Amino acid sequence: MSACLFCRIIAHEIPASIVYEDDEVVAFNDINPQAPTHLLLVPRKHIPTLSDAEPGDAELLGTLLRRAAAIAKERGIEASGFRTVFNTNRDAGQTVFHIHLHLLGGRSLAWPPG
Ligand code: AMP
Ligand code: ZN
Repeated sequence: MSACLFCRIIAHEIPASIVYEDDEVVAFNDINPQAPTHLLLVPRKHIPTLSDAEPGDAELLGTLLRRAAAIAKERGIEASGFRTVFNTNRDAGQTVFHIHLHLLGGRSLAWPPG
């Protein structure tokens, strides 16, 4: 059994509110949402951080981003706007070391981030 929280969610060993899945990508609601829409999109492949992504992962990363845009469109937040974020390592506040793309929207989001 994997020690990685998100691998366990992907394997349905830990419950999560999964909103989309296919053979490459799983998307679920963030347990501590920071906006009306706050999803995490993860590849089924365990990649700890964005820095660990290899050349062969380029298409997978693009697939994650394109899926985030498709979900934003489905939810009607594409025109109003949304944010996609990978946090990497300590200064960015990464707490789960399985790459995940945050999709945030449904309210006005401040910039720059804190
Ligand atoms: P990060 O700080 O970028 O590593 O983001 C980790 C995110 O995972 C945070 O926004 C957490 O709220 C979220 N999270 C942690 N545990 C769970 C869980 N069991 N189900 C859904 N989201 C989670
Ligand atoms: Zn993992």
